Amino acid sequence: MWGACKVKVHDSLATTSITLRRYLRLGATMAKSKFEYVRDFEADDTCLAHCWVVVRLDGRNFHRFAEKHNFAKPNDSRALQLMTKCAQTVMEELEDIVIAYGQSDEYSFVFKRKTNWFKRRASKFMTHVASQFASSYVFYWRDYFEDQPLLYPPGFDGRVVVYPSNQTLKDYLSWRQADCHINNLYNTVFWALIQQSGLTPVQAQGRLQGTLAADKNEILFSEFNINYNNEPLMYRKGTVLIWQKVDEVITKEIKLPTEMEGKKMAVTRARTKPVPLHCDIIGDAFWKEHPEILDEDS
Ligand SMILES: [Mg+2]
Repeated sequence: MWGACKVKVHDSLATTSITLRRYLRLGATMAKSKFEYVRDFEADDTCLAHCWVVVRLDGRNFHRFAEKHNFAKPNDSRALQLMTKCAQTVMEELEDIVIAYGQSDEYSFVFKRKTNWFKRRASKFMTHVASQFASSYVFYWRDYFEDQPLLYPPGFDGRVVVYPSNQTLKDYLSWRQADCHINNLYNTVFWALIQQSGLTPVQAQGRLQGTLAADKNEILFSEFNINYNNEPLMYRKGTVLIWQKVDEVITKEIKLPTEMEGKKMAVTRARTKPVPLHCDIIGDAFWKEHPEILDEDS
């Protein structure tokens, strides 16, 4: 947006100063160069009003990335926690995100129905989320992978989908969580067959072909003594991020009496932060417990 275009002259102002008029005329001329028409080539990508706007990111070629960086199979808790740290950063740095859900190398961010951030332009939502997430991934890498250097810069693709009702939004999030469950159950058996029974990946794949969830649970239980329901919640359910009030303890330097100068004191203050939960979001219980997420004015 050109600055000069935004200048609005009130009628009474027009008679005040010749200098001002000259300035404005000059400004108007500058804003309307013969090249100005190229702006008309920009597509309108405004997200439909009053709809939930979802941005989903997905790691680019993370199969290779996981191999190169020695991620544990079937789940690497460091990698999942780093993803969540990046998602928390996105929620704190950007505006109007009410809930996020992540699993594997993907994260979804839901913007308020009535957000007017960047005039609801899809490209702005998507690029801000993707770039903030990717830079955070590199920035915080060392906090999670102390002994594993980052070998090359990771990338993430993004997409925007608008959902017209609370039901479609809940179904979207349920779809992602169901996907997490299906993939994790498969991967848990697949890697047990390889790591504990010595099967090759091709043999493990063959063994699992055509099996149902109950069959996979049975293999885990009878062959590996694993009760799938006791596997970590973060792996089975993924991670939900919602805003919650948290008591934060910070150390503050206190002034006042000279004899106590320079001493530090622990101070507790309440702050609203994106808090990770590993719970079911397919059933109604979660939404009944947190009605503010889908609130009409959200
Ligand atoms: Mg991917």
